[in-house]
Amino acid sequence: MISVTCEKCRRRFTPTAEEIQTYLAAGQGKKHAQVLCPHCGKENKVALERLREAVRFAPPA
Ligand SMILES: [Zn+2]
Repeated sequence: MISVTCEKCRRRFTPTAEEIQTYLAAGQGKKHAQVLCPHCGKENKVALERLREAVRFAPPA
């Protein structure tokens, strides 16, 4: 899975495969997705390529 460090609160979190699919769908045609930090609600820019690889290695059940 993918681990994101929030640029505001500096806490780490891991979006679920389902959330990643949503971000990929929303980010079509862009280079980055805005991934919401569950701790403080800050949007963190994450490269779509990273998200794609995360679901490739952890396909939804
Ligand atoms: Zn945060």
